[in-house]
Amino acid sequence: MGLLSLGTPMDWHESKKWNEHVRENGIEQLLNIFRQHAKRDGDKFLWGDEVEYMLVDVNRKEAQARLSIDHDHILEDLNDEEGHPEQFARAEAANVSFHPEYGRFMLEATPLRPYDGTNLCDYLYVEENMVDRRVVAKESLPANIVPLTLTAFPRMGCATFTSPPAKAIGPASQSLFLPDEIINRHVRFPTLTANIRKRRGAKVSINLPMFPDVNTKLIDDSIPLNRDLFSSDSEPWLGASKPGHVYMDSMGFGMGSSCLQVTMQGSDINESRYLYDTLAPLTPVLLAASAASPIFKGYLVNQDVRWNVISGAVDDRTFIERNVEPYRGYDVFGGLDVSKSDKEHVEKLGGGVGVNGDRVVNSSGDTLLQTLDGKPIQKVPKSRYDSIDSYLGDLQHDTKYFDPQYNDIYSPINSKVLSQLSQEKGLIDEQLSKHFAHLFIRDPLVLFSERIDQDNKLENDHFENIQSTNWQTLRFKPPALYPATRDLSTTPGWRVEFRPLEIQLTDFENAAYSVFISLLSKAIIKFKPNLYVPISKIDENMKTAHNVDAVTKDKFWFRSQDSWGLNHDEFIGYDLSWFDRFINRGNDELGVDEVYLNGYKDKETIEEETANCDDGDNDSDITATSSNGTSANNASLPFSKLSANEIINGSACHPGLIRLIVKLIATELLPETAQHHCDTSKLAQQMTKLQNYLKLVSYRASGKIPTIAHWMRTVVTQSPEYARDSKVTERLNYDLIEKTIHVSDYDFTAAGGLLTEYFGADIASYLKETGYGQ
Ligand code: ADP
Ligand code: MG
Ligand code: MG
Ligand code: MG
Repeated sequence: MGLLSLGTPMDWHESKKWNEHVRENGIEQLLNIFRQHAKRDGDKFLWGDEVEYMLVDVNRKEAQARLSIDHDHILEDLNDEEGHPEQFARAEAANVSFHPEYGRFMLEATPLRPYDGTNLCDYLYVEENMVDRRVVAKESLPANIVPLTLTAFPRMGCATFTSPPAKAIGPASQSLFLPDEIINRHVRFPTLTANIRKRRGAKVSINLPMFPDVNTKLIDDSIPLNRDLFSSDSEPWLGASKPGHVYMDSMGFGMGSSCLQVTMQGSDINESRYLYDTLAPLTPVLLAASAASPIFKGYLVNQDVRWNVISGAVDDRTFIERNVEPYRGYDVFGGLDVSKSDKEHVEKLGGGVGVNGDRVVNSSGDTLLQTLDGKPIQKVPKSRYDSIDSYLGDLQHDTKYFDPQYNDIYSPINSKVLSQLSQEKGLIDEQLSKHFAHLFIRDPLVLFSERIDQDNKLENDHFENIQSTNWQTLRFKPPALYPATRDLSTTPGWRVEFRPLEIQLTDFENAAYSVFISLLSKAIIKFKPNLYVPISKIDENMKTAHNVDAVTKDKFWFRSQDSWGLNHDEFIGYDLSWFDRFINRGNDELGVDEVYLNGYKDKETIEEETANCDDGDNDSDITATSSNGTSANNASLPFSKLSANEIINGSACHPGLIRLIVKLIATELLPETAQHHCDTSKLAQQMTKLQNYLKLVSYRASGKIPTIAHWMRTVVTQSPEYARDSKVTERLNYDLIEKTIHVSDYDFTAAGGLLTEYFGADIASYLKETGYGQ
C-alpha cells in the first residue's frame, strides 16, 4: 500500500458517477506509462519484501491475548519527522519504513530502500532488516503490546477479541462480529468497507468448513439470533451462512489478515512478463508450503490458508455478476444503476441468473445490458482478490514459450478499455492489453473528491486506483510517470509482485521465504525454465492448496519435469549438500573443470546418481483430464501432477527449484575470490545461513518439518484445554499466542522442546548455535 491520499472519500452512491471517468483517465495514464517506459531496459534486479504485523495485547494476569486497537498512533509517529523526530530518525537509520494497513491493530513494514539482487550480501541483510523492523516497532510500544507476524488472529470476530473491548455495532461494516473500531482510522478504510457492501448490495459472506472433531456441533452458534440493528442482520438466515461452516461477514476477516509479499524488478518489460508467467504456477505451491492459518473466528477450520477468506472478504460483485440468486427481497444488480426497463426485463427472465451466457442482453434484445453510465453487465467468475486470470505472454522475450491456449479460462474483459489500449499501434500487445482490460472490469472502490481531476501525463492515481484494488496472486507493477527531464534509470521499472505467501512467525522464516522467492526469480531469469501450464490448472491447484496439509498430502498440476527445458545433468550436485562441500572442502581437492560445473561432484558419483534416469523427453507425461472440461484443449500438453516435494526438491533425475537456486548462488553470486573454495569464515557463515533458509522451505515441502498451520492445529488439539469441539477458547488462544511468542523470540528454554518441534532438530540446532534468541 502506498501513501494514503488525503481528502474526502466519497460514498459509493456518489463515487459511482465517476467510475467511467476513473477508468478512461486511468487507461490514458497507463498509455502514457507505456509511452514513457515501454522501451526502458537494463534495469537492475532490485527486490524488496513486505511484512505485516498484528499488535497483540498479552495480559498474563488474566491469561488473555487480544488485538490491540489503541496503539495505532505509532504508525503516524514513526512517519512523523516533525512531531516525533527521534522515532522517525530511528526508523530511517534502520532503513525501515512503516506503512498503514487495513486494521487498526496492523502495521506493515518494508525496507526503506529495495535490496540489490546482484549482491550476495543483500540476501543476507534481509533478515537483519526484518529484525530491525520488529525492534523499532517494539521500542515504540509498551511491553505488553507485542507485534506478531500471525497470518490470522485466531479469535478475531469472537465475543471480546480487542483491547480495549469494542462492540460489533458499526455502520461501516454492519458486521455481526467485527467492531468498526478495528478498522484503520484513516477515512479511506471505513469507506472502502462500506462501499464494497454497497456495490455488492449485501454484506460479504465467507463460509469456511469447520474442522470436524468428535464433539463438533456443525453449526456456527456465534451468529446472533435476534439482532435488529441493520437490515443486513437477517442475511445469515437468508442464505449467507451455510450449515457446517464458520460464517464471516466483513472485510476485516480478510484484510485484517497478514501476509508476506515480495517484489522483484526485471531488466525490462519483457523479462518481467516472463518472470510473472513463470512464477504463476508456483503461487499455489508456495501458498501450501507457507500455510499458517488453520483457525478463524475461534474455530479450527478444515483448511490451512487464508486465501479464500480474503478473497471473499472484498468480493464486491453483485448477485448477477456472481450468477447467483439474490437473497429474498434483495436486488440482483446490487448497487449498480440500471434503467427501470432493463430491470423489469431481467425480472421477467427470472432474475437474469443462469441465463444468457456470460453477458446479459437488454430489453430490446440486441445490445448488452449496461449500467446507466454505459458499462456492460457481465458474469464475473472471480472476486477482485483472487488468482490471476491470464498469462502476460513471453513472446517478446527470448524464451518464447507462451502459447495462447494456456490462457484457457473465461476471463471477462472491458472491451471499451481494450479498444482504448489498442489506439496506438504497437504500443501494447494483445496479451498485455487483455490483462489490463480484465483488471479494468472493476469499479473504483474509493474516490477522493479532491482527486477527480488529474494530470494524466504526470499522475497515475486513477490507474493505480483500479490496479491496486485488483489483489491477485501476482501483480504486474508498471513504473510511475515522471517529468520528461527525469533520468528514468534511477526510478522503479517493471516489477512483479509475488503475493500468495502466508506470513511466518519468525524473521528467520520470513527472510527464508523472501530469499527463496527472490533468488528463485533470479534463477528463473538466468536458467529460463518453461513452467507454463494452462491457467485452469493453476486455479485447480489454488483450491487444492487450501486443504489441510496440502503441501505433503496433495499433488499439484505442474509442467512435467522432463519438459521444463532444463538439462538435469547441468544441475547435478547443486542440492543442499553443495553448501557443505563448498564450505568444508572447496573445489581444490577435485578436478577443477567438471566438478566445478557439476556442483563439486566427481564423475563417478554423478553417474551413480543418474544411472536410472531416462533421457527421453516427455515420456512420463500424464494426459490430464480436469474437472472443468478443459482437457480436450490440453490433452497434448506436457503436464502432470507433482507433489510440492518433487517441484521444490526435485529428484535424482530432475532439478527441482532448489537446485536452480543453489546453482545460481554457486555460479553467479559468489565473490570473485571465492569461486573455487570458501575463503573466509564470514563467507562460510553466510553460506550456512543461505543453506538453512533453503532447508526451511525444502523441509516444509518434504514434510520433514511441519507447516505453521500443522503446528498450530497440533498445539490446539493436543492441549488438555481442548474439548474436541473445534472451538479455540480464549484460554486456548492465549496459550497458542504465548507459544508463538516463544517461537518468534527463539526461546530455546521454552518447555517441551518447542523450538525443535517447530523447526526440526537440524534447523533448531543451527539457530541455537548461531546465537538466535540470545
Ligand atoms: P505495495 O504495497 O504496493 O506492494 P510497497 O511500497 O508496500 O508496495 O512495497 C513494495 C516493495 O517493493 C518494498 O519491499 C520495496 O522495497 C520494493 N521495491 C521498491 N522499489 C523497487 C524496485 N525498483 N524494484 C523492486 N522492488 C522494489
Ligand atoms: Mg500490505
Ligand atoms: Mg505494501
Ligand atoms: Mg504489496
